[in-house]
Amino acid sequence: MTDNRDAGSRIKVGVSACLLGEPVRYDGQHKHLPLLTQDLARYFDFVPTCPEVGAGLGVPRRPVRLVGSAAAPRVVDVDDASRDYTTRLAAYATRRLPELHDLCGYIFIRDSPSCGLFDVKVYPDNGDPGPHSGRGVFAAALTARWPLLPVEEAGRLEDPQRRENFVTRVLATKDWQDLCRRGLCADGLIGLHARYQDTLMVQAPQACAALGQLLATAGHQDPREVGARYVAGLMQALQQQATRGVQTVPTAAAIARLAANPPPITSA
Ligand code: SF4
Repeated sequence: MTDNRDAGSRIKVGVSACLLGEPVRYDGQHKHLPLLTQDLARYFDFVPTCPEVGAGLGVPRRPVRLVGSAAAPRVVDVDDASRDYTTRLAAYATRRLPELHDLCGYIFIRDSPSCGLFDVKVYPDNGDPGPHSGRGVFAAALTARWPLLPVEEAGRLEDPQRRENFVTRVLATKDWQDLCRRGLCADGLIGLHARYQDTLMVQAPQACAALGQLLATAGHQDPREVGARYVAGLMQALQQQATRGVQTVPTAAAIARLAANPPPITSA
């Protein structure tokens, strides 16, 4: 199959800065994950962000935690809830997110009140029954802005099956972005579907058939409308984690596709 990824563009993936070894944690330490810098960095251009440093909280700093409701928690000092950093962190997200518009994925660290993606502890406040769990405030802002963007917690990527799934979704996002840059058309959408059809047939056969049907009449419809429906269905189908024991395209195969067709340096 011909690789249609745009020449001149790298695959940008956002990441919590401490995962790359940057000493930005509240205690001046980092949470370096070699999987990122020694493996995935060969194929992805990582774009690091530390929301707490970006919001001016400094290093070292007092640790913070989430309090209040899981849906809209506040970020406060662990020992003094009157020190509330919610507004500063929200303002930073508002400034930073537009700069990340061309990311193809994001890797967060777990349990962080800023960067945690799943089950971050939210402490009770003012009689609110708890504890609840929620999402770090920066992770919540990013996923609300781009609900289809592939996101994962770093620790979960140690699982080869999850890693493969994430890499596949990142590649699909890159292919979609490139197609949009070239101009959406029925042939382009059919080519995109052909690229992921094998994976979909194993991972989500019903969704694969539905997406194929959607494209059957693509030539007679507004490509922007069909494209929006197609990419939403594609990303949701790819997100369905293949069950253990089911044969899937191995992570190495997804990476090999990149290696065989290396995307050149970005011009974005
Ligand atoms: S705010 Fe995010 S990137 Fe910064 S130290 Fe905490 S977890 Fe790491």
